[in-house]
Amino acid sequence: MKTALTIAGFDPTGGAGVQQDLKVFHHFGVYGLSVLSAMTAQNTFEIRDIKAIDKKFLEEQLFTILSDIRPDALKTGMLFSKDAVRVVINVVKGYDLQNLVIDPVTISTTGTGLIENGALDLIMNELFPLAKVITPNIYEASILSGVRVEDEEGMQRAAEVLKKTGAETIIITGGHFKDTAEQIEAKSETLDLLYDGKDFKYYRDVKMDGEYHGTGCAFSAAITAFLAMGGSVPEAVERTKKFISISIKNAHDFGKGMRLLNI
Ligand code: PLP
Repeated sequence: MKTALTIAGFDPTGGAGVQQDLKVFHHFGVYGLSVLSAMTAQNTFEIRDIKAIDKKFLEEQLFTILSDIRPDALKTGMLFSKDAVRVVINVVKGYDLQNLVIDPVTISTTGTGLIENGALDLIMNELFPLAKVITPNIYEASILSGVRVEDEEGMQRAAEVLKKTGAETIIITGGHFKDTAEQIEAKSETLDLLYDGKDFKYYRDVKMDGEYHGTGCAFSAAITAFLAMGGSVPEAVERTKKFISISIKNAHDFGKGMRLLNI
């Protein structure tokens, strides 16, 4: 059985962060390992507090597990602090870890910042060059690239800028596109873009109404699972999109806010 490691935050709803990642790994038959980088007090409509795991303990978690098991792929989610980003950079380099997927988490759908000032720059400048795949959404792609991503052309320009960081493959997820008049007429769609430095490949899907928690986490976790199994990135994206669509269609509404993916 293949293994995948997630380095991410704790979310009591289980709809995002490490628990979501573990559910996704399990769904695809990959054994999940997890290391906690931050904790949140949150429900389906708000995040009330965040605590970073201290640097020494984050290091200890990683050194301990990695001195025993070498994951076939790994992903990062809510790293939150600059210290955590530095630890991950050192560990990925020190253990020469392959198949790194980076979800550059910035802000929750409910509007809470999930990263400390300066940590995103560090992720972009020093962690992206080590990545097999990065999965910013259009909001994150805009901040990171400095290109305002509002349409397909903007998506492509942002992908080109992000490719220069050294990341092998860029996937910009457009599930959060604001509907343009054209999209509304065309029944509204989500658009994801894959760029490997040569070709732009678009993936289109029908956009589902409503707010869903943890779609970015589930997306990057599924890509990580496919990489652990030795799959190619384009095939991974194809299958991940189908998986996310089904999880959204069957989502739970246990809480008062966002729906939780059914995985
Ligand atoms: N909590 C944790 C631990 C996360 O990792 C994330 C996103 O990555 C969120 C909350 C926010 O998720 P969403 O914006 O999908 O609600």
